[in-house]
Amino acid sequence: MTPIRPDLDTLPAYVPGRTVPGAIKLASNEVTEPPAPPVLEAIARAAAGANRYPDLGVVELTDRLAAAYDLGPERIAVGCGSVTICQQLVQATCLGPGDEVLFAWRSFEAYPIVTQIGAAAVRTVGLTADFRHDLDAMAAAVTERTRLVFVCSPNNPTGPAVHRDEFVRFLTAVGPDVLVALDEAYAEYVTDPDAVSGRPLLDEYPNLVVLRTFSKAYRMAGLRVGYALGSAEVTTALRKVCPPFSISAVAQAGAIAALEHSAEILAGCADVVRERDRVAAALRDNGFVVPDSQANFVWLPLGERAAEFAAHCAEQKVIVRPFVSDGVRVTVSTPQENDALLDVATAFAL
Ligand code: PMP
Repeated sequence: MTPIRPDLDTLPAYVPGRTVPGAIKLASNEVTEPPAPPVLEAIARAAAGANRYPDLGVVELTDRLAAAYDLGPERIAVGCGSVTICQQLVQATCLGPGDEVLFAWRSFEAYPIVTQIGAAAVRTVGLTADFRHDLDAMAAAVTERTRLVFVCSPNNPTGPAVHRDEFVRFLTAVGPDVLVALDEAYAEYVTDPDAVSGRPLLDEYPNLVVLRTFSKAYRMAGLRVGYALGSAEVTTALRKVCPPFSISAVAQAGAIAALEHSAEILAGCADVVRERDRVAAALRDNGFVVPDSQANFVWLPLGERAAEFAAHCAEQKVIVRPFVSDGVRVTVSTPQENDALLDVATAFAL
């Protein structure tokens, strides 16, 4: 018999947002505009050298990130998108059956997948009634087998950010023997002044690792670059479990250019934030429940009607992301695309 692990039969599949020709895609929390022109130029230049392997050590990009975060380069690990770093974290912390990875649910759908790939046990704690992490309950759910905790702030798909005071209380409660990964994929969209920011906590909490990505605010989801900030012990482990040459030369060049031009690129986030608040308010005015969102999407907790709402939108060529029997996540995009969403949403009989 082919020696494939039988437990892969029960591995949940990652469901990507659908792309339908001619439709407006609000399903994957991408930015609708293409990458910034200097990024496109850097990618094209790097593509001309694609006969060669990329820099194995990702040295220049790492150095630039180190400067940007005022950390030594040894405290940065670049990965092939932050989802791959999530998998590397499981590989770096869990030895196998019995080791536990804890996260809130519902949260980023890759967490249970990478946990199971790592042959570790999934432990989840439900969100609060207002769709936030229940960090006190999560701290209480830690056992002596818990190796890793994912905390997603802002939480995909529900939107709220974790607050600094509750996060610090959580870090203190779980103690140094549990690695806490703060997934900040949507950090650039956060406006809540109480929201946690991981970088300032790194020196005090060596068991904290912060995950960031170029996929969202930097408009580079197709290039696959994410990174972790943490103690040298954690980032060294991440580099050890990273397959050689994972981060392509094109991706490295694009990310370096993006950092050089980050002020102009990130200026676009203010437009998304303005639109997010407009879309949320308009949906609430039309009777939808919309939790506070600190990201570039809003969550509609439609329960059993989630699939029906997504199908209704798709009929009008607006693609949103249903989570069956739970809710629908809608990416906030340009004013025009958001207007299209609001038109179809308000025509849906609640
Ligand atoms: N974390 C969260 C919370 C996300 O929503 C995503 C993307 N959907 C990722 C990580 C992964 O991003 P990437 O692999 O593109 O860096």
